[in-house]
Parts: sequence; structure tokens; C-alpha cells
Amino acid sequence: MVADPAHYGFETRAIHAGQKPDPRTGSVIVPIYQTSTYAQDGVGGTREGDYEYSRTANPTRTALEEALAALEGGRHALAFASGMAAGDAVLRTTLRPGDHVVLGNDVYGGTFRLIDKVLTEWGVDYSVASLSNLDEVRTAMRPETKLVWCESPTNPLLGIADIAALAELAHVGGAKLVVDNTFATPYLQTPLELGADVVVHSTTKYLGGHSDVVGGAVVTDSDELREKLFFLRNTAGAVPGAFDAWLTLRGLKTLAVRMERHCGNAELIAEALSVHPKVERVYYPGLAEHPHHSLAAKQMRRFGGMVSFTLSGGERAALDVAAGTTLFTLAESLGGVESLIEHPGRMTHASVAGSLLQVPDALVRLSVGIEDPHDLLADLRHALDAS
Ligand SMILES: *Cc1c(COP(=O)(O)O)cnc(C)c1O
Repeated sequence: MVADPAHYGFETRAIHAGQKPDPRTGSVIVPIYQTSTYAQDGVGGTREGDYEYSRTANPTRTALEEALAALEGGRHALAFASGMAAGDAVLRTTLRPGDHVVLGNDVYGGTFRLIDKVLTEWGVDYSVASLSNLDEVRTAMRPETKLVWCESPTNPLLGIADIAALAELAHVGGAKLVVDNTFATPYLQTPLELGADVVVHSTTKYLGGHSDVVGGAVVTDSDELREKLFFLRNTAGAVPGAFDAWLTLRGLKTLAVRMERHCGNAELIAEALSVHPKVERVYYPGLAEHPHHSLAAKQMRRFGGMVSFTLSGGERAALDVAAGTTLFTLAESLGGVESLIEHPGRMTHASVAGSLLQVPDALVRLSVGIEDPHDLLADLRHALDAS
């Protein structure tokens, strides 16, 4: 047997990393340590690594963190109460007044809001660039740029950024590259191996995978950043509860098989939509006509479960389709086993209307679930016919 979990394949790490049977009872599954505090050996007697209070550390959360680090191929992972809490911790541990961030022009709206509405109040400045255009990123960078914040694939237009090239560009400019890996998951892409410094997740999405828990995580190889993140999280308190950590850990175990099915279903749907007469354009990195298809094929294992498309009939048709499906539930969020449909312009991206991040109003976004693909296709065709 190999002792170091890093040598196991992805599926094995997802099920075993950080998840040894409980030493006291043999419980095969990591227990939900539903406790706020821990008995100590003597006054002031806690040793490094012992548990003392669950804001600081909790064994169920530790198991989740070890699993996440093993999946991203990073040395340290920290779990947070939400994806936004994870992103906030990265921003607040790396930026000081006067610093500058470069963001993708279709960055997650919540991340944009945090930087645009909160961090600017603390003297942080930002620029927006198309991250698939390296010249635009180079131009946006300043001497005081400390972070480049990247998503790939992006939301909702499924753009692809060259993570290795961005890492190099950021490093040449004295900045760090953060990759929000929520859409791809470590099953499809591991940004640290491509040169990124920090990976951020909303574990609410594919990692949890069942739309039943909100959570976030940061993964990094840097000991220094890990110390700062640990200190801030313990100080500010944005920790997930034990049950939430446990649900996320349970989700992780099946990530590989779920992602295979998400990808397979999304590929079928993207192809079917791309030949449908009412569809104007399909945004899916797995399609040969996607402008960065070959880059996606190089840095990703497959192309993910998110598909967006515009309707020739404009916003009216897009609203009709979004409201006209039965199996695809009209809802925000993504990454669960069940399929979801939404109209970004009026739903997830309503807050960026009129900004640089505005999205086409004829756009519909799908989070393709793992149901029978024929049922999903029939549902979409029915809604398109009626639109
Ligand atoms: C949902 C999401 C977030 C925010 O995560 P929460 O868990 O909702 O706080 C950040 N980035 C991306 C890409 C997301 O999809």
C-alpha cells in the first residue's frame, strides 16, 4: 500500500484522504463532531494540533480540509462558511490600502460586489479585463497590482482563460494568481499544478453536489498565506458547522462519477442545442466552435456541466424557455445532481446590469444535472417549441 494519499488516483483520494476510520469506534465514516469545545488535559495543557474550540478547529472540518487539499494537489486547505467567505478571506489577507486587483470581466457577481462595494471602501482599487486576452490583462496590471482573480470556465458565458499563462503574467508583475475553481472542480482542472498560487471554491456547487449545503474553501501551497488565512478565519469566525463540513465531505466522495455524468449530459445538450433552429448561439467549451476549445481541452479533463445559450427570439424567448421547462427547475445556483435553468440577465446577473459585467438579455444558463439525458433533452425541446 502507498502511505501518502497524494499518490493515489483522484477517486481514491476523494473517498479516503483525511477520512480514516474513527480510531475510537471504527466508524467507517468520519463522525459529525457536533461540539463547540474539547476537554483539555490540564490548564494550558493543549498541545499544537489538539482541538480546543470549534471556531479554531473541528475534526469533521479537518477531514474535509485534508480531502480538499489532496484533491487540488495543494499543501493546505481551509474550509469556510461560504464561497464568498473564502474569497473574502483571500482578499483581506493579501490586499492592503493602495493595492490593486485585476478581475475577469465576467467574474462571479458576488466577488465583483465584494471588491466594488466593500474593498474599495478600504482603499483597494480594481480593473476589469477579459482574461482570455493576455494583452488586455498586461495592460490592466499596475505596479501596485497584488492579485489577478480568475475564473475558468467563466459564468455565465463559459469563457476560458489560460491559467498557466496568467500565472506567469501575474508573477512577472509581482502579483499572485487566484483561481476560483468552482465551475471546473479539481476533477476537471487543478490550477495549482498550472502555476496558480491560490484556489478558491464555492463548495456549495459541484463539490457538495446536492444543493443541500452552503460552504467555501481556499487551497494553497503557501505556508505564509495559510497562517494568515487561519488567523483571520479564527479571528473573524467565518467557519462552517460540523454538519455542513460532513455534508460537503460526503459530496466529495462521488465528485468524480458525478462530474463524468454532468459532462456527458452537458455535451449531449450543447450539441443538440447548437443545431436547434430557435437557438442563436451555444456557449460551451466542449464544442469545437468555442473560441478557446483547444485551450480548454489542454487544461481541463472534460468541459463541465454548465451550458449557456442565446435565443434568436431575444429576451422574450429566453424568458419563455427559462419558465417553460419541467425537469430543469427555474432556480439560481448550480452544480447539484438536479438540472437547473435560469435567465442570468434577470436572475444571477441582475445586479451587474449596466456595468461592465452585463450579460446578453437573450441568454439562458443551464446547470445540467445527472438525470437521464434523454429526459433532459425532451424537456428542453418542449420548452423551445413552446417559446
Ligand atoms: C456561487 C459562487 C461563489 C459564491 O459562493 P457561495 O457559496 O454562494 O458564497 C463564488 N464563485 C463562483 C464561481 C460561484 O459560482
